[in-house]
Amino acid sequence: MTKFSDLKLDPKVLKAIDEAGYTVPTPIQAQAIPYALEGRDVLGIAQTGTGKTASFTLPLITRLGRGRARARMPRSLVLAPTRELAAQVAENFDTYAKHTRLTKALLIGGVAFGEQDKLIDRGVDVLIATPGRLLDHFERGKLLLTGVEVMVVDEADRMLDMGFIPDIERIFGLTPFTRQTFFYSATMAPEIERITNTFLSNPARIEIARQASASETIAQELIQLQATRRDTAAKLKRETLRAVIEAEGEKLENAIIFCNRKVDVDILYKSLVKHKYDAAPIHGDLDQSVRTRTLEKFRAGDLRLLIASDVAARGLDVPSVSHVFNFDLPSHPEDYVHRIGRTGRAGRTGKAISIMVPSDQKYLDAIEALLQKTLPRVEAPELQAPVRVRHKDRPAKAETAEKVEQPAPREAAPQDSIAQDDTAQRDVAPAPAPAARAEKPRRGGQQQRNTPAREHAPRERNSNRGDNVVGMGDHVPDFLLREFRSA
Ligand code: AMP
Repeated sequence: MTKFSDLKLDPKVLKAIDEAGYTVPTPIQAQAIPYALEGRDVLGIAQTGTGKTASFTLPLITRLGRGRARARMPRSLVLAPTRELAAQVAENFDTYAKHTRLTKALLIGGVAFGEQDKLIDRGVDVLIATPGRLLDHFERGKLLLTGVEVMVVDEADRMLDMGFIPDIERIFGLTPFTRQTFFYSATMAPEIERITNTFLSNPARIEIARQASASETIAQELIQLQATRRDTAAKLKRETLRAVIEAEGEKLENAIIFCNRKVDVDILYKSLVKHKYDAAPIHGDLDQSVRTRTLEKFRAGDLRLLIASDVAARGLDVPSVSHVFNFDLPSHPEDYVHRIGRTGRAGRTGKAISIMVPSDQKYLDAIEALLQKTLPRVEAPELQAPVRVRHKDRPAKAETAEKVEQPAPREAAPQDSIAQDDTAQRDVAPAPAPAARAEKPRRGGQQQRNTPAREHAPRERNSNRGDNVVGMGDHVPDFLLREFRSA
């Protein structure tokens, strides 16, 4: 077996690796580093979790150990598709380069230009950037890329998904032809193949087995729901998710919950918080400082549920994630592999639970074709109110919530906003099925607040529900009120 000491890395790098607690190189490290140190271009087909970051950072540091940075002319460039990934590479660099005097700058959106400008003006050995931000700097005349000796493109397939390929081509064109290139992608789409053919010179191609290594330690489960209508499906999925979270109980230390769309990340986040879960969202529309803070909390174990889009969570390295949920099945099957790879890391066990509705069948087919296996089907746990009583002072009300969450009225009442499945409201207020139905046409909005409807309704119900409670326009039909009271 290859040892790090066999790899001709700078002794200062070896020392840092030792201190990081790594004993043996991962397969991509063992294979890529010798080529990288020979000066060859490397094409790494590997996903996150394989140790690929170190596979380019360690030889990069070793190579840059000789020579010095010049003002405005970074000696190497690492491009990552998202701010988080760029920040993660920067953290890796800090760890492995801690015994060297190499300098770095991190150029990512959402961070003020000034500080980074100063660093670049002084000269940096490693410039880590997202493509758009790098080009902004370049266009402002703050940066020269003609001194780049090594260029790294990380997560190229994600760059493709995000529309960064033209930027990448342009950046390649701004760097010297003689540079050494490390190029990493989890998959080789035709467009990626084209780029590598154009910009890499006789690369050593290193392919690391796809999902197998990651999934061996991950128990996968699939819950198939029968909802066919979009509006009811979303609500049923949220209820199912809560039921699963409760059923997993203490085994669920923390989880990343993936949604396909940013808007759904927000909706799910609001719903979970209303239900008193410790949850926070992360997606590309959120301010960078918020994203960073959320991630730090999650990493530190101060946040239990992280609701994420693929882009924001791509490649995130949180060593200990007990569960991953696919609230939506991903439309790209590779994303399934990436997502579930957030758990079961570093030999730990993990659980990945996916929820699907009939319209997701095509996504499931693609995932199972890629994995070459059938995902184990499991029944959704019984939908019921959380066992734990969230408001110590209101134990009796939680019981009522159970009634509201019965499947029948849920299916019967088409609902399209999270407020409508808000059992947090129900937790604190008895709201049996007929009343829930009465909420259905709530689009009437604000002016309904002080209508007779509200006055007709029992006072304590309204007072606990806050201003959200509305009736059916100007009145509530008598039969609804009668039924409610008898219930
Ligand atoms: P990456 O694929 O670069 O996202 O790395 C995944 C995780 O593996 C990171 O937490 C690294 O710190 C860790 N790692 C990288 N190389 C090694 C190694 N040789 N031994 C143990 N852990 C490693």
